Amino acid sequence: MNIEDFSISSFHNALCAKEFSAREAIEESYKTIEKNKDLNAFITLTKEEAISVAADIDVKIAKKEDIPLLGGLPIALKDNMLLSGFRASAGSKILSEYKAVYDGTVVKKLKDSGAAIIGKTNMDEFAMGSSNENSAFGPVKNPHDSERVSGGSSGGSAVSVASGAVLAAFGSDTGGSIRQPAAFCGVVGLKPTYGSVSRFGLIAMASSLDQIGPFTKSVADSEIMFHAIQGKDKLDATTFEHKTECNKKEHLVIGVPKEYFIDGIDPYVSRHMEKTMNVLKKLGYSFKEISLPHTKYALSTYYIIMPAEVSTNLARFDGVRYLGVSNIEKDVRSLKELYIKTRGAGFGGEARRRVLLGTFVLSSGYYDAYYAKAQKVRALISNDFDNAFKDVDVIFTPVTPTPAFKIGEKTNDPLSMYLSDIFTIPVNLAGLPAISIPTKKYVVGSGELPVNFQLIGKHYRETDLFEIGKKYENNI
Ligand code: GLN
Repeated sequence: MNIEDFSISSFHNALCAKEFSAREAIEESYKTIEKNKDLNAFITLTKEEAISVAADIDVKIAKKEDIPLLGGLPIALKDNMLLSGFRASAGSKILSEYKAVYDGTVVKKLKDSGAAIIGKTNMDEFAMGSSNENSAFGPVKNPHDSERVSGGSSGGSAVSVASGAVLAAFGSDTGGSIRQPAAFCGVVGLKPTYGSVSRFGLIAMASSLDQIGPFTKSVADSEIMFHAIQGKDKLDATTFEHKTECNKKEHLVIGVPKEYFIDGIDPYVSRHMEKTMNVLKKLGYSFKEISLPHTKYALSTYYIIMPAEVSTNLARFDGVRYLGVSNIEKDVRSLKELYIKTRGAGFGGEARRRVLLGTFVLSSGYYDAYYAKAQKVRALISNDFDNAFKDVDVIFTPVTPTPAFKIGEKTNDPLSMYLSDIFTIPVNLAGLPAISIPTKKYVVGSGELPVNFQLIGKHYRETDLFEIGKKYENNI
C-alpha cells in the first residue's frame, strides 16, 4: 500500500475491507519517513506505541468489530504538543531533555479516536519563525525542492503530509504557522477560530493568538480532523461549545481586500490567484472588493503583542523546571547565574530577540506607548473584519507573497522574514478561522513550486471554508 493514494475515508474503507492491515500502514509510514530522512521532518519517532495501536485495531478488524473512522490512521504531531512519555522539545535546546508527563487535550482526543501517532515533527524553536531554520534540530527541507525551506513554524508537520508519510499532521498557528508551511508544501492547512480547539498541553508561544489545527491532503480531510479535535474543554477557559451554523445561501459572496493585492506579490503567485478566482467564479461564487484599512498596522501590532506574550510564557524555562541544559548547574554559584547560563545556552537567537523585545514593550514607561497601544490597534483590525463581513461571507487572499524561498535566503534579514506572514497575521489578531488550500494538486517531483490561496471566515464559520474549499478541490 501507498499512504498517499488514500483519503481519510478511503483509508478507513480499505482497512475495514482488509486490503491491508493497520500494522502494514504504520510500517509504510516509517518507510516513507526513512526514505525522506534528509528532509529532517521528524524530531522523535514513536514506533513501538504506533505499532501497538495498530495491533489493537487489527485485532478488532479480525473480530469483525466496528472501528472508528480514524482507527489505525497514521498521524504526526508538532513537537510543541504534549504526548505523555515522549520528548516535547518545541524545537528548543532548552527542552531537549524534557519528556511530557501528560497528554494535551487534542492529543487525548486523537488517541481516543484510535489514530496511531507515529512521531513528533520538527519546528522552529517555540514556534517562532517562518522557515523552520530556527530549530535546534536543524532546518526542515521542502519536498518539492530540497534547497528551499518548508515554511514554518510547523514545517515538519507540513512535510510529513506532503511527503506521504501520514494523511494528517497537527501544528499550531500563532501568525501563520499552519497556513504558511501548508502553502510552501502544497497541502491544506486549517487555523480554526480562536477558542474552538483546546490549547491545553500545547507549549505556549503567544496565548491570545495560538491555535492548533490540522494539515491534510484535502479540504474534506481537514473537515474530518477539525471535528475530531474541536470542542469546549474545561482545561482551557478560552474554549467554547462550537455551534455549527449552516449557511442558508445558495452561493456565498467572496470578498477580496484591496489592501492585500499589492505590488510586493510575486507575479507567479498573482497568476495563480487570478486562475483560482476564475475557477471559483465558474462555480457560481461572486466576488466583491472590500477594504481592511488597518492592514498596514497588522505586522507591527503583532510584533508587539506576540513578543510580550512570548517573554511572559518563556519565563518558566529557567533551568530549575522542565530540566535545563546538561551540566550547566555544575559550576554555577547563584540562582541568578543558573537562570542566565541556562537561558543563554538553551535559547536560540530568535527566541532571545523576542524575549528582549517583549520585555521592553512591557516595561514600565513603555507599556502604554507600545503594548496598550497595540491592543487598541488590534481591536481596530478586528473591527475591519467585522465591517467587511457585513457585505461578504468569506474573504479570499494569497497565503504568502512568494512561493518557498531558498534556505538561508532570509536568515540575516529578520524583517523580510517577518514580511512573509503579512497575509496570515491579521487573522490571528482577529481570532478568525482561515484555511490555506493548494491552487492545484501539487505532486512531489514535478518540479513545480506550490502556491496556496487563503479563505478567511467569520468567527465559528469553518463550515463556509470547507464548503467552498471542497467544491474547489473537486473541480480542479
Ligand atoms: N512566522 C510567525 C512568527 O514567526 C508566525 C509563527 C506562528 O504562527 N507560530 O511569529
